Amino acid sequence: MPPAPYLDRTPRPDGNKRRIVIIGGGFGGLACARALASADVHVTLIDRRNHHLFQPLLYQVSTAALSPADIAVPIRRVLAHAQNVDVVLADVQGVDTLLRHVQLSDGGYVPFDQLVVATGSAYNYFAHSEWAASAPAPKTISDARTIRARLLKAFEEAESCAETVRRSALLTMVVVGGGPTGVEMAGTVAELARYTLRGDFRRIDPTKARVILVEAGPRLLGAFPEVLSAYAYRAPVRLGVEVRLNTTVQQIDAKGVQLADKRIEAANVIWGAGVRAAAGAAWFGGTENRTGRIPVDGNMAIIGQTNIYALGDVALFLQNGKPLPALAQVAQQQGYHLGRALRHPGAPAPFQYRSNGDTAVIGRHAAVYSFGHLNLTGRVAWLLWAVAHVYLLIGFQKRTLVMVQWVWRYFTFERGARLID
Ligand SMILES: Cc1cc2nc3c(=O)[nH]c(=O)nc-3n(C[C@H](O)[C@H](O)[C@H](O)COP(=O)(O)OP(=O)(O)OC[C@H]3O[C@@H](n4cnc5c(N)ncnc54)[C@H](O)[C@@H]3O)c2cc1C
Repeated sequence: MPPAPYLDRTPRPDGNKRRIVIIGGGFGGLACARALASADVHVTLIDRRNHHLFQPLLYQVSTAALSPADIAVPIRRVLAHAQNVDVVLADVQGVDTLLRHVQLSDGGYVPFDQLVVATGSAYNYFAHSEWAASAPAPKTISDARTIRARLLKAFEEAESCAETVRRSALLTMVVVGGGPTGVEMAGTVAELARYTLRGDFRRIDPTKARVILVEAGPRLLGAFPEVLSAYAYRAPVRLGVEVRLNTTVQQIDAKGVQLADKRIEAANVIWGAGVRAAAGAAWFGGTENRTGRIPVDGNMAIIGQTNIYALGDVALFLQNGKPLPALAQVAQQQGYHLGRALRHPGAPAPFQYRSNGDTAVIGRHAAVYSFGHLNLTGRVAWLLWAVAHVYLLIGFQKRTLVMVQWVWRYFTFERGARLID
């Protein structure tokens, strides 16, 4: 036990039961805690936020389609029925693997017999963390609100801007990264400008706003089959998005972006390029790889540790020699699997990921869906994307609410969350 003044922050210390601590109430950690509900163990879930966030729909908050509360649910609420689970709101700073406790940033600690690390990922600005200030990325509710406010403010400012060059910069949006996040973001920003804001201004024509999607590689959605990349190129172009492939970003500042061949003055730059593991890997010194993910074995146990597991985005789990992708469905399946296994003492059974298909949305009824040899595009893919995402949403109330709002927007193009706050 560490010396005073450090405090044991376990809400209900119970010496007799196995103590399982889960760090992170995202897709993986929450699934793990739910699978442990009513088991004969004492579970403490620690998260620095009081809510579970449905990140796949963050871009809809960023573009004023949904409100923050539609895609977040208090972790305590989700676990209210699980009497053996306690929730602690705290920022984890490290793990003492010898003393077997988690260290909190307020100086407290939480002892464990078994530990599950599910801290997720963070955006990778590829050694240019200073770009984050000018090019926010949608990762938290606060990021999404920042992006939404900046986008909407740019149109407001452009309306009363008499200077042509400045007005043109205000009506230029650059999205960096041609993966699912970047493509989704560019498509929805274009729809916001072309359809939702059309007719709302007197001096400017929002439909003339430029949306530029920049990708360093030769195609969009590089992880999808080529046929879907080709569709993912055509669909945003049809919405008026200018797609620039094979283009690297060299500099981002408050006024725009320097590309390899030209500079673009833009009031809004949104980052949607690569991710790397969140803090977590560093707590297990020497295990860090290029993406920062923690190498785990087939049971999700951290290599070189005993009774310490990692799952979801923070973990490097190899299946058939390839790392599993950083996806919500991977984290959720791993969480349920590990939680069920930890209900009983002994080593968990090996985990096997079963994909339900990969999907990305580009805009209204434009999406791609890939499952084995099946590649779908357009309305059917959009429907599958919608069903998959609504299904992943936790809480029936939220599912109904989000579906009603989607159907309404589908027919009206209206966006109910056009708030600058
Ligand atoms: C914009 C965007 C769009 C996406 N779209 C899709 C999609 O369409 N389909 C899909 O399958 N996946 C998508 N993903 C990926 C998906 O969200 C992640 O794969 C998933 O969230 C990973 O789950 P996780 O449990 O590993 O981590 P997370 O869900 O990120 O949860 C991590 C939790 O750990 C907490 N935490 C982190 N560090 C600490 C600390 N030091 N102390 C305390 N708490 C901590 C965080 O607060 C968070 O609650 C998207 C992600 C983003 C950002």
